[in-house]
Amino acid sequence: MPNSETDCDVVVVGAGGAGLAAACAAAETGARVVLLEKLRDLTGTTSWSVGSIAAAGTRLQRKAGIFDTPEAFAEDMLLAHPQSDDTLHLRLMLARNSGATIDWLERIGVIFLGPFPEPPNRVPRMHNAVPAGRIYLQVMAGEARRLGVEFRHGARATELIMENGEVRGARYQSEGGAQALRARSVVLASGDYSASAELRAQHLTRAQAAAIPINANSTGDGHLMALRAGAGMKRMDGVFGPQLRFVAARSLPWIASLPDWRWLRLFGAAFIRHAPPALLGMLAKQLLVAHMSPSDALFEAGAVLVDASGELAGASSKAGEVLALRPGATGFVVGDAALAARFSRYPHFMSTAPGIAFAYFRDYERGRPDLVHWGAGANALAAQLGFDAARFAQAASHLSGRIFALGPCQAMLTVTEGGAAIDARGCVLDSTGSAIPGLYAAGGTGQSGLMLKGHGLHLAWAMTSGRVAVASAGTDALSR
Ligand SMILES: Cc1cc2nc3c(=O)[nH]c(=O)nc-3n(C[C@H](O)[C@H](O)[C@H](O)COP(=O)(O)OP(=O)(O)OC[C@H]3O[C@@H](n4cnc5c(N)ncnc54)[C@H](O)[C@@H]3O)c2cc1C
Repeated sequence: MPNSETDCDVVVVGAGGAGLAAACAAAETGARVVLLEKLRDLTGTTSWSVGSIAAAGTRLQRKAGIFDTPEAFAEDMLLAHPQSDDTLHLRLMLARNSGATIDWLERIGVIFLGPFPEPPNRVPRMHNAVPAGRIYLQVMAGEARRLGVEFRHGARATELIMENGEVRGARYQSEGGAQALRARSVVLASGDYSASAELRAQHLTRAQAAAIPINANSTGDGHLMALRAGAGMKRMDGVFGPQLRFVAARSLPWIASLPDWRWLRLFGAAFIRHAPPALLGMLAKQLLVAHMSPSDALFEAGAVLVDASGELAGASSKAGEVLALRPGATGFVVGDAALAARFSRYPHFMSTAPGIAFAYFRDYERGRPDLVHWGAGANALAAQLGFDAARFAQAASHLSGRIFALGPCQAMLTVTEGGAAIDARGCVLDSTGSAIPGLYAAGGTGQSGLMLKGHGLHLAWAMTSGRVAVASAGTDALSR
């Protein structure tokens, strides 16, 4: 129990996937937990996610007769991104506990489809939440409340309270002004830093720093607090992007905007399991055209990327680096009718959810007509989109007949990968490798040099590092 000098046992900063998982885990140990969330609602990056989690040793794998081991999972992670051995302990921690994370999420009410196969995983490991990533936050918040976690929304943590080299709570800003919360442990789980101008300028290339963050609220507050407490930071130059992404649809496809009622999700999951593949494919295509990237194959086949003035920015998805430095980091993918026809049937797809569906050019025409612009030739299209006619004519000189422009698309940062150094219990380490007493980190804030390139690994890390490692914050808090 908290003594008279503390307001609670554990303060968790951030109610995203990592923070909510951490809050539940700490509360299960009997700790009194206060969760600070700077926003009024639950809209961290977790809520933007597709909701795919890769995991090994789950109940759902066993039910499907799939034999899997954490060691095999840890090895397969390396195939997506060969990385240095100093993160081996964290990869193993993730692999060993990922199955328990999925099983816990299932127990508290998340409904999964899968496991689906997806390279480079040697066995099916992809578990997809129904209907999408935001459900993790709804379900975990319900569980946290049930466990007695106290939520403070609109409370932006600004500073750690430090005494004699130990962390003793956090200060935060809320409508009521500056507040202090004394605690035995603090868990930093405030996401990544893709929207921090200061950290981007320090750690990323000029193009990466100029790209548009998908989540403008990922301001790296936890990174900065950890730094000020003396934390060692790892792989701060790691980043997903700039990636080209078509601007998001104004409204979510109906399948992703279904209410969060459990009976409806159960019905949705049963429907998806038993629906004819053609119908399922149609529904999946709605999601695939909502906010996706143009495939590399489109550029290999002759498409080009132009900026908002119609000037050539490149001819590969790497052109995102160039586009990031052009005005508004915004442009269009340009091709001709022959290219559009080619990308209308397998194997020439424009976006994919592996194992579930492919979206072709005509799916964009049907599902996102706002993105598809046709012109009789370069001049007509330039006039329609307000391009500089001469620059665009040059960029499109190799194309013939009717020309399309797909967009706008933008050079975006999905997430940054760098974070505070932690050990396998989630304790934040200083630059000499010693634990900073009372300080823990999870998710994007505590990524500790782990490059999570394979699909489904970021959510697996957020929830697993939050839940399993940071359970120690609760146990340690009670023993301090
Ligand atoms: C479009 C998109 C799709 C994705 N799809 C997938 C996918 O399918 N599978 C996958 O594995 N990964 C996916 N990812 C990546 C994944 O969603 C994230 O890496 C993961 O959700 C990060 O979780 P987190 O808890 O660390 O951060 P977040 O979910 O961002 O949570 C951080 C929380 O902290 C709060 N906060 C920030 N600063 C403060 C402060 N000072 N005080 C209080 N609160 C604060 C924020 O408001 C936020 O609520 C996707 C990412 C994007 C952008």
